[in-house]
Amino acid sequence: MIIPIRCFSCGRVIASDYVRFAEESRKIINEIGHEPNGKEKSKILDDLGVERYCCRRMILSNADLIDEVISY
Ligand SMILES: [Zn+2]
Repeated sequence: MIIPIRCFSCGRVIASDYVRFAEESRKIINEIGHEPNGKEKSKILDDLGVERYCCRRMILSNADLIDEVISY
């Protein structure tokens, strides 16, 4: 739905990283024309400094559904 502000497991602030992750993903979609693959997503997270797998799963597993749900 909406990205949680902090990681559920370790408490690291991840919401600001998610915004940058989404921007980088959009850049790849515009340049290459497809969703970033696993290696590209991994590189984006490494560049953002998201190292722990608990934080990485928060960002990777988030589904942005707020625009679809907000009309209800
Ligand atoms: Zn974490």
